[in-house]
Parts: sequence; structure tokens; C-alpha cells
Amino acid sequence: MSEHFDVVVVGAGPAGYVAAIRAAQLGLKTACIDERLGKDGKPAPGGTCLNVGCIPSKALLDSSKHYHHVQHQYAAHGINIAGPVSMDVDTMLERKNKIVKQLTGGVTQLLKANKVEFICGRGRLLPERQVQITDADGEQRQISGEHIILAAGSIPVAIPNVEFDGRYIVDNEGALEFGQVPQRLGVIGAGVIGLELGSVWKRLGSEVILLEALDDLLAAADKDVGKAAGREFKKQGLDIRLGTLVQGAQIVNGEVIVTLETKDGQESITVDRLLVAVGRKANTAELLAEGTGVNINQRGQIEVDDHCRTSAENVWAIGDAVRGPMLAHKGSEEGIAVAETIAGQAGHINLETVPWVIYTDPEIAWVGKTEQELQEAGIDYSSGSFPFAATGRGLAMGDATGMVKLLADAETDRLLGAHIIGPNASELIAECVVTMEFAGCAEDLARIVHAHPTLSEAVHEAALNADKRAIHRVN
Ligand code: FAD
Ligand code: NAD
Repeated sequence: MSEHFDVVVVGAGPAGYVAAIRAAQLGLKTACIDERLGKDGKPAPGGTCLNVGCIPSKALLDSSKHYHHVQHQYAAHGINIAGPVSMDVDTMLERKNKIVKQLTGGVTQLLKANKVEFICGRGRLLPERQVQITDADGEQRQISGEHIILAAGSIPVAIPNVEFDGRYIVDNEGALEFGQVPQRLGVIGAGVIGLELGSVWKRLGSEVILLEALDDLLAAADKDVGKAAGREFKKQGLDIRLGTLVQGAQIVNGEVIVTLETKDGQESITVDRLLVAVGRKANTAELLAEGTGVNINQRGQIEVDDHCRTSAENVWAIGDAVRGPMLAHKGSEEGIAVAETIAGQAGHINLETVPWVIYTDPEIAWVGKTEQELQEAGIDYSSGSFPFAATGRGLAMGDATGMVKLLADAETDRLLGAHIIGPNASELIAECVVTMEFAGCAEDLARIVHAHPTLSEAVHEAALNADKRAIHRVN
């Protein structure tokens, strides 16, 4: 007889491990299955996010930012570094690997402390909520669950005629591991991964060319933010080629030749490494056996309702494997909501207030509707904005690029969207998320005391500007 659990979670990324911990906290007998092994060959729960996504990319963004600042910003503060500054890539990668190991080890400890049974292996859902698990040696066992939570995450999308080889043509995993700074780095896709990892290697000295199919940069962001971002990245020397279709790439004598089609016709470029970052897709190809009753849509996503229920009874799905933004915090909140719903509580997540953050320099963050979305929906709105260049704190920091832009309903003043490009945008957006989640207004933000001198004063002044009464800018 297979061992029976109240909840079996397949996948221990930020969606799955969080769901498992919350289910166990609520007294449910919980198992969590993940097949990923770390660099040391040991189980490494934490998913894409901890192992090859959010965390390692931010570690490299920080290292490369320090390197860039030493070279380009310290002098303005009167700090003189004698002699040439150099970057030891091995040390940078070791630091990143250490952080990853610390965090995946932390998740292992948390699962254990909460009495979640962690099982390392590949899970496959069979009918009747049985789960077959195959470990790294090919040994199989079966367990069953009163409830199953599928949290298998996502994998990179490939494009035709561009084959990953893991060394010259890579996905995010490869681009986090270059042993030396590539002289020329090509990136297909100027989306979130392309801009973040492109920025890392640019700051370390690569010539970076981003090949983007669309005519607009960051098409999902507010147009003003996308435009401002394009200007800043250009100043930094990122060569972003919009409206460019890649036709293929070939590795020839240790170089990658990429053929492109632009408005001006066909051309080719030669780079030393090529990162393909054209999006990710749900990792569901071998997750389900015949007859589970779980529906998968044409994009490979598991179909779920607003509460993450699949079409099969007591089978739930969360995170990157289902609709909605592919973001760690979105998956985690779905995990908590599902565990609480299973336990009879009112599990809830509001997809309308999931914040986006892009950790470039300047950082970009937003929540809610963009101006173009409001226009398309025919919603009347008021808009307020404020540049960081008019904040004392931004100037004192020597980092006063960008602005805050708020959008509020013209009639009710309810905050509908917030868009920030600039220093600490990743942290500043939280205030706007809270305001929206509490159905607050621009006027609420305008009446709240913000400490001086802080960057958050830009949020305050943007809210005042929505009513044309900002103090430190002409309205
Ligand atoms: P995953 O993290 O992909 O985890 C799924 C887990 O399930 C994996 O460990 C996998 O091994 C396991 N698994 C899959 N199938 C099976 C199976 N059949 N049996 C056993 N185990 C299985 N998001 C942010 O919010 N902020 C960021 O800064 C950010 N940066 C990113 C940077 C990069 C380079 C990338 C690639 C992604 C980034 N993301 C970021 C996105 C974020 O990583 C994902 O949204 C998040 O990891 C999704 O969580 P998940 O649990 O749904 O899936
Ligand atoms: P993305 O969707 O952000 O960007 C992909 C880009 O590639 C788009 O601009 C798209 O127009 C372009 N593109 C698609 N096909 C193309 C082609 N054939 N040629 C040229 N350009 C093409 O995807 P991504 O950067 O791969 O990241 C995947 C997901 O991972 C993100 O959408 C996000 O959900 C998540 N992520 C989040 C963060 C973060 O939160 N900071 C960081 C990295 C990744």
C-alpha cells in the first residue's frame, strides 16, 4: 500500500515549498517532492528562483553594480582608488553559489522543522491522486494524497534554428555561469531576463547586443517607463535593437553567428556567447499520466479557476505552471491561499495587485494598470508624477534618475496603477501595493506623512501632483 498524505506537493519552488510549509503549519500531513539536485549533488529545494533565477541573478547584479560604481561613481564622492580595478569572476560566482546553497539549505531545514516529508525525485500524477516518484537511481515508489498541489514551475522557451549547447548558446542557467566575461554577448529577447543579465555582463565589460522582436521596449510596462528605460539603457551602452527577428544561430570556430532580419533587410552579427531569453513556458510535459482529469491548455499551462482548482477533484495547481505572471511572490501567495483553502480557511490572492520589479539600474517597478491599459479600457483617470531629480535624498545619494508616476480613477480617485523607474523602485512600490490592496486613493497617499529626506517623498509628491498641488515641482 502506498503511503497516504493529506497533501502532496509536486515541486519545491517558491510556489510549492511555501504551499507545503503552510499546509503543514495548518496540521495537514504533507509531502513535498522535487527532483532538483544542487552543484554538490544534494537535493536543492527552492526551484528556479533560488537555484537559477531570482537569487543568483540578484547576487550577480549586486556584484557587478559594486564593480561599476567603483569605476564610475566613487570619484564623484571624492574617493580615489589607486591603480586599476579588476574583477575576479571566480570569486563573484563562488559568492553567488554560496548564497544559493545557504538559501536552498534553509528551505530544507524549514521543510524539516515544519514536519513536511521532503522526497527527492521526479513526481508524476497518476489517476486517483496517486503520485509516482522516480529517484535519481531510477528507483520508484508511489504515494497518494487527499489533495495534490502541482507546482512544477517553468522552463525556458527555445526558438527555431537556435539550439542550446550549454556553452556558447545558453539560457539563464548558462548566463549565470560564464567563467569569464564574454567580449561580445548577444541576447535574444530584451525582456526581464535579457535586461537583468545583459546589465550584469555589460557592467563587467562585455559588449552587449539585445535583439528584440517587438518595436517597443518592455511592452508590458507603462509607456513612459518603457521609454525612460530605453534612454537609460542606451546611455549605459546596452545596444538594444528593436524590431529584430532572429532567424538562426550557428557556432563556428568558437564564435556564434546570428542571422537577423530587420526593417533594413537581413544581416548577421558575431558574438562570443548568446543568451536566449524569449520567455518561459509551463513545465508540464511529463507531469501527468493518462486519465488524471487535469486539463492542460494549448500553451501547456495547467488550467485553473480563480482559486487554483484544476479540472480534477482535489487537484490544485499554482505558480509558473498556471496562468498569471511568472513571478516568485505570485506563486508563493497562491501556495498559501491553496493550503488555507484546503484547511477550510478563506484562501485568497488578488492577481490585480501583484507587483512587478525589474532589477536593472535604474530599477523598474509597477503595480496595477498602465496608462495605455486605462486608455484602451476607456477609463477616465488622473495622473501625477514626480522626478527623483527633485528629491534631496536622490541627489545626496548621487542616484536621482527616473520618476514615480501614479494613475488614479478620475471620479473616485482610487489608485489604479503605480509606475516607478529609479533608485530603490523595488522597495518603494510596496507602499503603492498596500494602498491599492486597501482600495486607497491618491489622496490617501498625499495625506500620509513621508519621512524627509527619503526617496518615498517622490511617491508622496506624485500623489500630490495627481491633484496638481505638488510642492517641489511645477504642477
Ligand atoms: P519553479 O521555481 O520553477 O519550481 C518548480 C520546481 O519543481 C523545480 O525545482 C523543479 O525541479 C520541480 N519540478 C518540476 N517538475 C517536477 C516533477 N515532475 N517532479 C519533481 N519536481 C519537479 N521572479 C521574481 O519574482 N523575482 C525575480 O527577481 C525573478 N528573477 C528571475 C530571474 C531568472 C533568471 C529567472 C529564470 C526567473 C526569475 N523569476 C523571478 C521568476 C521566478 O523564478 C519564478 O516565477 C518562480 O521560480 C516560479 O516558482 P514555481 O515554484 O512556480 O516554479
Ligand atoms: P520576457 O517575457 O520578460 O521577455 C521576453 C522578450 O523576448 C520579450 O520582450 C519578447 O518580445 C522577446 N521575444 C520573444 N520572442 C522573440 C524572438 N524570437 N526574437 C526576439 N525577441 C523575442 O521573458 P524572459 O526575459 O525570458 O523572462 C521569463 C519570465 O521570467 C519573465 O516574464 C518573468 O515572469 C520571469 N522573470 C522575472 C524577473 C523579475 O521579476 N525581476 C526576472 C527574470 C525573469
